[in-house]
Amino acid sequence: MLDITLLGTGSPMPDPNRAGPATLISSGDTHFLVDAGRGVMMRLAAAGVGAGQLTAVLLTHLHSDHFTDLNDVITTRWVMTFEPTPLTIFGPVGTKTMVDHILASLAPDISYRIAHHADLGYQPPVTVVEMVEGPLDVPGDVTVRCAQTDHKPVEPSIGFRFDHDGAGVVVAGDTIPCEGLDDLCASANALVHTAIRKDIIETIPLQRMLDTLDYHSSPQDAAETAERAGIGTLVLTHYVPAIPPGGGDDWRELVAPHFSGSVEIGDDLHRVRVSSP
Ligand SMILES: [Zn+2]
Repeated sequence: MLDITLLGTGSPMPDPNRAGPATLISSGDTHFLVDAGRGVMMRLAAAGVGAGQLTAVLLTHLHSDHFTDLNDVITTRWVMTFEPTPLTIFGPVGTKTMVDHILASLAPDISYRIAHHADLGYQPPVTVVEMVEGPLDVPGDVTVRCAQTDHKPVEPSIGFRFDHDGAGVVVAGDTIPCEGLDDLCASANALVHTAIRKDIIETIPLQRMLDTLDYHSSPQDAAETAERAGIGTLVLTHYVPAIPPGGGDDWRELVAPHFSGSVEIGDDLHRVRVSSP
């Protein structure tokens, strides 16, 4: 059994109701945080999971909206645990440089706290593993692997597949339909996929918005990916434009002709339990 918690269902556009992209995949005491967007520590607190309880952080790509609060995860885990609690961050090539820069930006804070707290005599213990495909070396009985997705010119970008006790969940991140994602989705039970409403965005006469159309999936694209793989549950997130709280019926209507399974669209902290069929 695997639990999916949509920690943040927003996008780069600030929204009072939706935090930035972040998804929690849990099984018992195992918790994988996929992406760490705006407000992620607040949403983790609401989900009842502390930074110290994260098994690992997994990043799909290095667009800022997907990691902007990673610094908060690093600091909170360091300060709110009382013995060295290494944090492993998996991500595509480039993640190590990005994390090194976060740690450099935190250097004054780190020095203040080490000087002030006699029992905090160590730097935040962070390990970065860069990869684009294959199994992740993680503790516990949930297996995780990743494969390359297609979010060009953001390259590489990756998606993740989680398996536990016959239940399989894929977290796609931002991508257009592609072979790597299809491979991850084969025989999975649920797909968590970011989506933008191309039918709405293409009517906005702003080139910067129009630029987003060619490297994201529409709800229909995500539905077709899920349908091709025979997936039972499609979980949409990263709603562009933002869906009003409790809304989403228009999104469901768009998806329905393309997907025969169940569709989950929700507010932040919406939870979906996935069991072996
Ligand atoms: Zn992106």
